[in-house]
Amino acid sequence: MKQYARPLSNLIGELSKLPGIGGKTAQRLAFHILSLDDKNAFALAEAITEAKKNMKYCSICGNLTDVDPCSICTDPARDQSTICVVESPRDVSAMERMKEFQGLYHVLHGAISPMDGIGPEDINLRQLIIRLQQNEIREVILATNPNIEGEATAMYTARLIKPAGIKVTRIAHGVPVGGDLEYADEITLSKAMEGRREL
Ligand SMILES: [Zn+2]
Repeated sequence: MKQYARPLSNLIGELSKLPGIGGKTAQRLAFHILSLDDKNAFALAEAITEAKKNMKYCSICGNLTDVDPCSICTDPARDQSTICVVESPRDVSAMERMKEFQGLYHVLHGAISPMDGIGPEDINLRQLIIRLQQNEIREVILATNPNIEGEATAMYTARLIKPAGIKVTRIAHGVPVGGDLEYADEITLSKAMEGRREL
């Protein structure tokens, strides 16, 4: 017996693909969306379409942006000689909420994880090397997550760029081990940046 008509089961199916959304929640959300008036339901669909169409990755730093290069890369007030390396665009948001860091970013879109078959060539490292070759960079701050993958990525990246004579630092373990950078509060993150040590 088919439980739901096709359009409804499609909607439930799509929602259940989202992270943290199980089958029950997907059903609840689907019924909620269908209970909305047309204006609100279509606004949701439109917002997804618009965001997906207009947001892209900055060709310089890899951050999510609607203009390329992004507003951080093109901001003349920012310190062009410091690059903070993070795993995801969400980490950039977390750092920006802190409002203390005035340098530039580089988003790796992942971390090295031999267990998952993710090697250095699978993350956005090549573009970082190009940036370091083409610009006068004084310091690279490695702010990958404080877990096994993040540490491995930081170590690998440090070994890669240190021979170029660039100062390489790693943020302190103010961020709870195994925790994600994006969930760290501003004070913790600020302390982690302050206490960074040279590798
Ligand atoms: Zn950028």
